[in-house]
Amino acid sequence: MDLPEFAIEARGLVKTYAATKTTPEMQALRGIDLAIPRGSIFGLLGPNGAGKSTFINILAGLCQKTSGSVAIWGRDIDRTPRDARAAIGVVPQEIAADPFFTPFEALEVAAGMYAVPKAERRSLELLTALGLADKAKAYVRQLSGGMKRRLMVAKAMVHNPPVLILDEPTAGVDVELRKQLWNYVLELNRKGVTIVLTTHYLEEAQELCDQIAIINRGQVVACEPTTTLLRRMDTRLVLVTVEEPLATAPPLPGFETKLTKSGGFSVSYRTGHSTVEQVLAAIRAAGLHIKDISTEDPDLEDVFVSLTYASAEGV
Ligand code: ADP
Repeated sequence: MDLPEFAIEARGLVKTYAATKTTPEMQALRGIDLAIPRGSIFGLLGPNGAGKSTFINILAGLCQKTSGSVAIWGRDIDRTPRDARAAIGVVPQEIAADPFFTPFEALEVAAGMYAVPKAERRSLELLTALGLADKAKAYVRQLSGGMKRRLMVAKAMVHNPPVLILDEPTAGVDVELRKQLWNYVLELNRKGVTIVLTTHYLEEAQELCDQIAIINRGQVVACEPTTTLLRRMDTRLVLVTVEEPLATAPPLPGFETKLTKSGGFSVSYRTGHSTVEQVLAAIRAAGLHIKDISTEDPDLEDVFVSLTYASAEGV
């Protein structure tokens, strides 16, 4: 089979959790369209409750979708569920390792579940890659939290899937371990593995991902290359009030201006291109006298909030 263009392709994916005695019906995914390019490191970002885990659980076969379609590595999860499942490894949020196995045994058991023939198993290789070789024969309960987490990554890779999904991989993980984990993940990616990670840390996604989709309330509110998203974020606003009464926002060459509710106007500029000094010079050159001035720095959080806010408006 030719390699698919997309590692994961979801179309119109909907998930409604039925009402229970204590909870009302919940539409967790409201028509997700996502095409995750083969070979990418793709970030799935969103606040708690956005629907990220639901999406991942559907991919992992742990949760039944209500409608829509999903293909993993070009394999439809309804028509060829086993093939679809064989194409992904999922590292869950929660550490769930049997304390009575050694890491080596845990990997062998996981490989057995995927029916990986003995000759093709790579348990020691995986443990080595994740810095766990010297713990191969220890009991899992003797491992530190960080080691357990690395073991989870190894477990997700026993069947050598072309797509690896990491669900909130660095929650509660210290800086040193995070680096190790990412080095391994980047190494896998260099070897051709598509990586999908969910996080609510924008900086983490920004650092690692080529492309980022932002999910809010079960909908994709943005999906673009990280560089494009960052470009949106280097916009700054200068808020100005002037002595002169204004009926419209004064045109300033090279800048975008807008009238504000308070009777002043805002000037937006890109930090890579202009400086506040140049904004001030343009205002003076327009013959205006500045009464008050303040600046606004949208950070990652602001962009995130404005995108998710826009989506909330549309509901
Ligand atoms: P995220 O992973 O982005 O935090 P989730 O997919 O866990 O979001 O949750 C999306 C929404 O679906 C939330 O409102 C959550 O309360 C609800 N939800 C998740 N799992 C279930 C479930 N098993 N039954 C009912 N509602 C659920």
